[in-house]
Amino acid sequence: MKALIIGAGLGGLLSGARLARAGYEVEVFERLAMIGGRFTNIEYKGFKLSTGALHMIPHGPGGPLAQLLTEVGADVEIVRPSPLSMIRIPKIKGGNYYKEGYVDIPFSGFKNQFSMMNQLKLASLLVTTRINPPKEGTFGKWISRNVKEEWAFKIADAFCGWSLSLGCFDVSTKEAFAIFENLYRYGGSGIPIGGCRAVVDALADIITSNGGVIHTGADVSEVIIRDNSAAGLVVNNVEYFGDVTISDIGHLETSRLCNGAVESGKHTQYFEKIRKIMPSAGVKICLSSDEPLIGHGGVIFTPNARRINGMNEVTNVDPGLAPPGKHLLMSHMCVQQDRLKYLEDEIDLGLHDLKEMFAGKKYEVLLIQSHSNGWPVNRSASGLDVGNKTPFTDLYVVGDGAKGEGGIEVEGVALGVSATMDIILGQGNRLDGCN
Ligand SMILES: Cc1cc2nc3c(=O)[nH]c(=O)nc-3n(C[C@H](O)[C@H](O)[C@H](O)COP(=O)(O)OP(=O)(O)OC[C@H]3O[C@@H](n4cnc5c(N)ncnc54)[C@H](O)[C@@H]3O)c2cc1C
Repeated sequence: MKALIIGAGLGGLLSGARLARAGYEVEVFERLAMIGGRFTNIEYKGFKLSTGALHMIPHGPGGPLAQLLTEVGADVEIVRPSPLSMIRIPKIKGGNYYKEGYVDIPFSGFKNQFSMMNQLKLASLLVTTRINPPKEGTFGKWISRNVKEEWAFKIADAFCGWSLSLGCFDVSTKEAFAIFENLYRYGGSGIPIGGCRAVVDALADIITSNGGVIHTGADVSEVIIRDNSAAGLVVNNVEYFGDVTISDIGHLETSRLCNGAVESGKHTQYFEKIRKIMPSAGVKICLSSDEPLIGHGGVIFTPNARRINGMNEVTNVDPGLAPPGKHLLMSHMCVQQDRLKYLEDEIDLGLHDLKEMFAGKKYEVLLIQSHSNGWPVNRSASGLDVGNKTPFTDLYVVGDGAKGEGGIEVEGVALGVSATMDIILGQGNRLDGCN
């Protein structure tokens, strides 16, 4: 059996590694000169910055991605930092509202910031929503109905902005509670030693050591559809044929490659559904410093900042991500679609936040990266994913355009790949040593 894969991002490489280990002949086609997509390192001034992700795996060594990496035999060390997550809140002087710097409190302390009445309500909601998770409306609306306090929106926006690059009114309640359930089930984030690149390199090794081929500079221009089935690909004007095709570039982009499919008048429901998929956008600002700015590798959520949702300083866990004696801090801010036209203003607000939060500290702004449209934070905003199947047999979509429910970013990618492998290889067909 032969598998053709469009795109050597995390989704494409995970699928390729899994199928190569299952005995498939695998060919991956990546249009860029490098592999890894938005999950690999960029060398810059001796720092290992990244093409997208903040060198962070949302559920660390216990999550779906770590499980899939173990299953395919990828040797990646993922370290869970301590503390795992904190919240940076302003220190208020006396009874007046003069801000006197910031203080970090453990994430669990977010409850203590509510009024006594709402703390009691929250304690009961934590139990009842686990038994009967709400399914209707947006997370923001759910907060408005249940905990009418500004702090609730701030902390929810910081969490959704950091984890999903969305505001709390842009996330469905169903998806938000599926995410919380996964946090209970799998635990919090971890940092891959060597950064994102360690993960994609390990996967590429598995593909090639099992006889697979990864082509770079290989732009796929067409998915050859015959009798409503994917038969092959056209890559740089050459035809390749296979038994199964997996696309790592999202449903919409994939459908555009299926020549004439959209215009054919068939599968209209599918095309209408995938046209509604919206990407999520964001800005990452990387700082360098001689002294640590945070001092640990966990996430700091920043609900009181104007734009920054959170930040991490991964060099406290993996010093190799910066030159000797230096630290790397990465901050993330979600950018709403209607603010993309004011991107420079948004970035200025983010820089201002950092200046305020690190007042008196010495740092250099290394790189500012904005991510939207064709190179977004998530190809499909969380909760809008439509699954991995297409209307064409033997054509599947993986990656962050087809995540599994409740899967934050690369965990969603891993859940989607696992679901696709269950369809292709048969459910329960796991490799040795894995349940
Ligand atoms: C700023 C930012 C911060 C993030 N932070 C985190 C984080 O800390 N943790 C986390 O879990 N996730 C994070 N993410 C999300 C994570 O990076 C992505 O979800 C993940 O990398 C997506 O992988 P993918 O395989 O779906 O897509 P991609 O990485 O986009 O891979 C798709 C590949 O397909 C190639 N391609 C496209 N079209 C063609 C074609 N026609 N022919 C051949 N090749 C083609 C592309 O060049 C690309 O290499 C972040 C993303 C951003 C942008």
